[in-house]
Order: sequence, then C-alpha cells, then structure tokens
Amino acid sequence: MKHSKVLIIGSGPAGYTAAIYTARAMLKPMMVQGTQPGGQLTITTDVENYPGFGDVIQGPWLMEQMQQQAKSVGTDIITDMIKSVDFGQRPFTAVGESGETYTADSVISTGAQARWLGIDSEKKFNGYGVSACATCDGFFFKDKTVLVVGGGNSAVEEALYLTNIASKVYLVHRRDSLRAEKILQDRLFSNPKVEVIWNSQIEEVIGNDDPLNVTGVKLKNTKDDFGLGTATVDVDGVFIAIGHDPATQIFKGQIEMDDENYIITRPDSTETNIPGVYAAGDVKDKTYRQAVTAAGMGCMAALEAEKYLAAKESLMKILGINCMNHDASMSVVDYSSGIGEVLWAAHAERYSKVKMIITLIGQ
Ligand code: NAP
Repeated sequence: MKHSKVLIIGSGPAGYTAAIYTARAMLKPMMVQGTQPGGQLTITTDVENYPGFGDVIQGPWLMEQMQQQAKSVGTDIITDMIKSVDFGQRPFTAVGESGETYTADSVISTGAQARWLGIDSEKKFNGYGVSACATCDGFFFKDKTVLVVGGGNSAVEEALYLTNIASKVYLVHRRDSLRAEKILQDRLFSNPKVEVIWNSQIEEVIGNDDPLNVTGVKLKNTKDDFGLGTATVDVDGVFIAIGHDPATQIFKGQIEMDDENYIITRPDSTETNIPGVYAAGDVKDKTYRQAVTAAGMGCMAALEAEKYLAAKESLMKILGINCMNHDASMSVVDYSSGIGEVLWAAHAERYSKVKMIITLIGQ
C-alpha cells in the first residue's frame, strides 16, 4: 500500500501542472500515469498554440518536458492504471491494475480517452489497419491510401500529418463543414493529397481475414434520407479522430457527473461534490479542452487541494488528533471553504468546537 497527501490520477497537462504545484508545496504528490503517459498530446504532432515557445514544438516532446519538470520537483510518478476508487472513506482509496492500493488525503483527477465509432468491424480491425493515432501508426502506410474520420482539430491535424507519409488521404466528415480552426482548414484544403468526403459516416470497415488487413470502407451518406445506398472507398488504413470522452468510468456513482459523464465542479473551481476530490482538464471541461486550459485547471486543483489539506491539518492539530490516524468515522461536508457543516460521529462532544474552528479557518 502506498500513501500520499495528494494522489493525481492521469498524466496530461492538467495532471503534470497539479503535480508541479503540489510538489513545490511540499505535499509529495504521487501521480498514477494511466495507460497513455503524457495523455492525448503524446499522439499529436505540431503544437503551435501552447504559449512560451517561439518555434513549433511537438506534443510528445512537450509532455516529456512536463514529466521531467514534475519529477525534478519531487513527484512520485507511478506506471499503473487506476481501475477503481473508493471515495466513501478516508483516506481515499484507489486500486491499480498492478494490484497496488493507493491511499490519499486528497485526489486530483484528470484525463480523457479516444472516442471510437463503436461498430463491430472497427473493433475487428483495430491494430490491423484501424487506429486512433496517426503519429503512432502512420508509418505503416507509406505511399498507401488512408482515411481519417472526424471534423475537429485532431482529425485535420492527423490528416495533414498523414500527407507526409501516404500517397492519398481522405477526410470523412458527417456534416458539410469542419469545426477545426480556420488555419488548419486552410492547410487541409490547399493540400493536393487530401480529398474531403462530406456528409458521410463509416458504416463498415472492409478487409481480409487471413491475414487481417483493411481494404476499404463502406460509407453511408448522412443526408440520404431515403436510404438509397452506400459507397465503397478503397483504403489501406483508417484513422478515427472523432474526439475524446472524459475518463470517468471509475468515478461512476461516487462523484456527481453530468449526462455526458463530465465531472461537475463548483463554478470557478475544481472542487467536486466530495471535499478533497478535485477535477481538472478533460474530465470536467467540455468547452475549451486545450492543453493550456487543462494546465490552468491543474494549477487551480493543486492550490485548492493545498488549501484543503492545510485546513484539515490545522483542524486536527487543534483537536489534538493525529493526522496520520485516518479516522474513517469523520465525514467532512465542506472543509476548505470554512462555512460548511462538519459531522464528527466519533467525536460528537467536540462538534461545537469543530464548528467554531471551521468558522475561524474560513475567515
Ligand atoms: P472535437 O473538436 O470534439 O471534434 C470531434 C469531431 O468528430 C467533430 O467534427 C465531430 O463531428 C466528429 N464526431 C464525433 N463523434 C462522431 C461519430 N460518432 N461519428 C463521426 N464523427 C464524429 O474533438 P478533437 O478534434 O479531438 O478536439 C478535441 C479538443 O482538443 C478541441 O477543443 C480541440 O480544439 C482541441 N485540440 C486542439 C489542438 C490544437 O490546438 N493543436 C489539437 C487537437 C485538438 P461534429 O463536428 O458533427 O460534431
């Protein structure tokens, strides 16, 4: 079992920033990185909009730098994937796929994972011609024909990246306009290797069974109200770039989420409905979803966790309770703001004292 004052789940810009701030606050954070250390930026290429760099930088390089910085200020970086959490008791508990149990006085959750179309043939050819990462798998399609699905920044960036490798790149989008930034759209439309197929969805990925490989896709026109038919396009590879979903499955039933499974936080804050648990970046943000905004939220979460832990520690000191004795009978409804109620089952006689101290801390 490993314990820390702060457990950070996920390792994108939000996670690393939270790690840098909490480590510099001497909270000795531990970060469980997840299956994709560095997060989504590790599967992108050029980053032109992260401030501080005069030249275009690469996403994987930026994440390496963040990791190095988090490590050098004292973050315990752990290669594992959290598969379950228990926020119903204190300290909070998280169990990794490695079998290790992590306990912490506060938790900062971050992250998102690639969205898939959800059709059977996509699953069948995943890793055999179907991919969600052009920078990882594009190499296999030298001078071949590939197809990218999606209309956002990711899809356009993937398509542009693939033009450096493949001989032809189709971009298939379900509507008749892209949501990608104008500068990316201009680059896409002026690239002679790219052909955009509008108003279309993949109905099926077609290929061989032995060996497994992709030979084409069956496309359905999204404006074909009469279901008149489909078109087949010959391609060697299919790249799915249709966005990301918040990585919140492990929090279901434990933290308040909206109907799209984004964690709900207080306005202008990363506080969740559970005192001591914070959400930063793509687990809670469906509006901005940028590396720089995620980093900003990571910083907010760290500062809020620090304030919460300091309040908790002074409270325990005043009450003469050993901070390391994580008494599960304590349930704090609102710790950090200092205006909430404290329920202290095992120390009921001190309840009025606790309330008074909480009020003092809040002032
Ligand atoms: P996104 O902006 O959410 O775009 C997803 C695209 O996939 C949309 O065009 C959407 O179509 C389409 N789509 C979604 N579900 C689909 C489905 N089931 N079938 C077919 N198409 C589907 O996602 P993203 O491109 O990954 O970008 C995510 C965020 O990261 C954005 O905020 C973006 O700005 C940011 N980002 C920034 C950079 C950068 O600044 N360098 C790079 C990459 C990403 P509709 O348009 O019809 O909804």
